[in-house]
Amino acid sequence: MQQLTSERLKEKIVNRLIIENGIDVNDATNKQIFYALSSVVNEEILPNWFNTNKHYEKTGYKQVYYLSMEFLIGRLLESNLLNCGMLASAKEAINELGFSPEEIFAEEHDAGLGNGGLGRLAACFLDSLASLRYPGHGYGIRYRYGLFEQRIIHGNQVELPDYWLKEPYPWEIRKEEEAVVIQYHGKVHMFKRNDGTLEFKYENTDKVMAVPYDVPVVGYNNEVVNTLRLWSAEPAFQDDARSQGDQSAFYHDLDHHHSIEQISGFLYPDDSSYEGKELRLKQQYFLVSSSIQNIIKQFKKTNKMPVSRLPEKVVIQINDTHPSLAIPEMMRILMDEERMSWDSAWEVTTRTFAYTNHTTLSEALETWPKDMIQNLMPRIYMIIDEINERFCKKIWFDYEELRDKIPELAIIAYDRIHMARLAIVGSFSVNGVARIHTEILKKKEMKDFYTLYPKKFNNKTNGITHRRWLLQANPHLAGLITDVIGPQWINRPKQLIRLLKHSNDKALLEKFDEVKRNNKIALANYIHHQTGILVDEKSIFDVQIKRLHEYKRQLLNIFHVIYLYNELKDNPNQDLTPRTFIFAAKAAPSYYLAKEVIKLINTVASIVNYDKEIQGKLKVIFLENYNVSLAEKIIPASDISEQISTASKEASGTGNMKMMMNGALTLGTMDGANIEIHDLVGPENIFIFGLTADEVLDYYQNGGYNARDIYNKDDRVKRILDQLNQGEFGIHDIEFKDIYYNILFHNDSYFVLKDFEPYLETHELVDRAYRDRLHWLNMSVINIAHSGKFSSDQTIKEYATDIWKINQV
Ligand SMILES: *Cc1c(COP(=O)(O)O)cnc(C)c1O
Repeated sequence: MQQLTSERLKEKIVNRLIIENGIDVNDATNKQIFYALSSVVNEEILPNWFNTNKHYEKTGYKQVYYLSMEFLIGRLLESNLLNCGMLASAKEAINELGFSPEEIFAEEHDAGLGNGGLGRLAACFLDSLASLRYPGHGYGIRYRYGLFEQRIIHGNQVELPDYWLKEPYPWEIRKEEEAVVIQYHGKVHMFKRNDGTLEFKYENTDKVMAVPYDVPVVGYNNEVVNTLRLWSAEPAFQDDARSQGDQSAFYHDLDHHHSIEQISGFLYPDDSSYEGKELRLKQQYFLVSSSIQNIIKQFKKTNKMPVSRLPEKVVIQINDTHPSLAIPEMMRILMDEERMSWDSAWEVTTRTFAYTNHTTLSEALETWPKDMIQNLMPRIYMIIDEINERFCKKIWFDYEELRDKIPELAIIAYDRIHMARLAIVGSFSVNGVARIHTEILKKKEMKDFYTLYPKKFNNKTNGITHRRWLLQANPHLAGLITDVIGPQWINRPKQLIRLLKHSNDKALLEKFDEVKRNNKIALANYIHHQTGILVDEKSIFDVQIKRLHEYKRQLLNIFHVIYLYNELKDNPNQDLTPRTFIFAAKAAPSYYLAKEVIKLINTVASIVNYDKEIQGKLKVIFLENYNVSLAEKIIPASDISEQISTASKEASGTGNMKMMMNGALTLGTMDGANIEIHDLVGPENIFIFGLTADEVLDYYQNGGYNARDIYNKDDRVKRILDQLNQGEFGIHDIEFKDIYYNILFHNDSYFVLKDFEPYLETHELVDRAYRDRLHWLNMSVINIAHSGKFSSDQTIKEYATDIWKINQV
């Protein structure tokens, strides 16, 4: 790619401002500079995008399509500049024009079209697909409202709508000519054709138009630009009620338009628990019907082959079960529109789909009432029913030992449709997202399916794009790494391992120290600006940032803080390495206990941060509105990465990988990808504590845990819980009785008390370890050195070779 100098860039920006805004650069606002620069970047991207598409059409390479209800892509200007090789010169140009790059980038509203890890994974995968020159594209929904914006008011979470499309989004292109029609409701009629085959016709359906908006996905310095296609719901036909002057029809029409637009109205703000609403089901079918129609159309146009050969040229990965209606939708199109027989359509379908499982939490396993699906999409229901009949028959006749298990395996059971079962039966690959997670799927959660289809199951440990999470978010660390081992690691992140050779070089460790210190100062400034609280950059930055969920155990973290505070109150001169505890987390709006934990963290903060007696040894910071851009600010400044989920509950985690890559040490349980981090860096370079997954699963199965015993025996625990119950710990009479009751009367389902003591002890090790600066830095560099393993480039290569069978272009 031809590199633009900063001089040339400045000219182009100045020129844009004249042409688009009719103003001089000196009079421009940050926003105007943002749009001008975006437009200049688009000039680079668009020809490559066009050429990439032409190339795919001409060559007919096999394409992978990643279907996901969520894409948490964050901001794009800086990452597009980076991937176009223009970031350095653009920053220079902005500075020379008298603006601040950081402020210009901050003008872009985060595209928050996802809840958390699952949506961010989809975004990292797109970046890696393009950067590795794989023909792979994302399909999602263009929600007009992304994940809610969080404000903290009097310690409580308040949700505001995130109208991210309020201002023009410079990266999308509306492709009206590619719109397709989605049909809901109506009646299905069956006819016998002359040749004896059946024909299905739909009558009186409600039609909705799906209009794609395409966002370019720019590969790193390689001229490849793939596509993220986001569907928007619009009325299918211009109703003529208006022109006929029929008022009631007009208002009915308005209502109708409104309900159609609702389909791509907002993202459901539920993280790892399933939200059973009809509108959500409509959204799911909207995504899959538009995407599958589009994929088949594109296949026919490009390949000029019969659709029976689709699996040679197309593979579709479904991100969790949310898009699993794509399976019956594919069957519908192949049979009803392409006139294939059931058997051939099933052959094509099951060779095309692959399914990624993201959780074993039972409350997150998606099921829908049979009636809802039957009413909303009658033809799809018929097909699911038939898939189920054939599947159950197969078990009955071919797997006698599983006959008793049919109710637990059937896709339709007790009037509910089980989406994970549909996804497994209809796919050729089922993967978990970390080694332990895949093992739990095979041995426990999906044991019988594993017996049925042992070859389908495989592991693909998650990853993160090191371009956004290291090169872009932590440019000084990236620069230092390049100084030490050369720039090859950027294209081959596993070469970060070369840092190992230098992990004892004292002079070098000092440089790593300086980078981290500067990042911490930058975050301290941000914290001061946001909260008015001063934090000491010499304290340990102890970070837990992720969605708020009981299984992630932010409660355990804040219990530790309360414990330290109690200790300091008893003995203010205690020898404690100063700590800054940093939290950021959104709770699902309907998740009461999660919101109580947010309130507790903020209440503790309001006491600890202003207590002179503890001499500033503790600070508690809750940063509001956790999103990708906030993560990019916090992660480069983290010393300790809190990954403390109840073992067996966190499928993988990716926040753990981001912080490791930025030199933080993990303090965590043996859960998800923490285990793989542990195995890479060795037990001496990570802080592991607590119950193992086997122990947790054993307790769940056989009992034997009593939270009250710990409460009775451990004074430290009793003190904290009593403080919560009696409102003692609270300046405004705020009580946390529900947290108290949940632990003592529901027997602490997530083993907070059980893991409390080992957690404290491990924190003491951290406290001691931090005092030996060089040793700490050595551990930190060892972590960075091994983090290349978690680049999503690695993950995507494994998907490409093991599952997708696609080649680099
Ligand atoms: C990485 C990321 C997540 C996932 O974090 P976990 O710690 O793995 O749960 C969630 N939200 C955002 C904004 C992220 O960047």
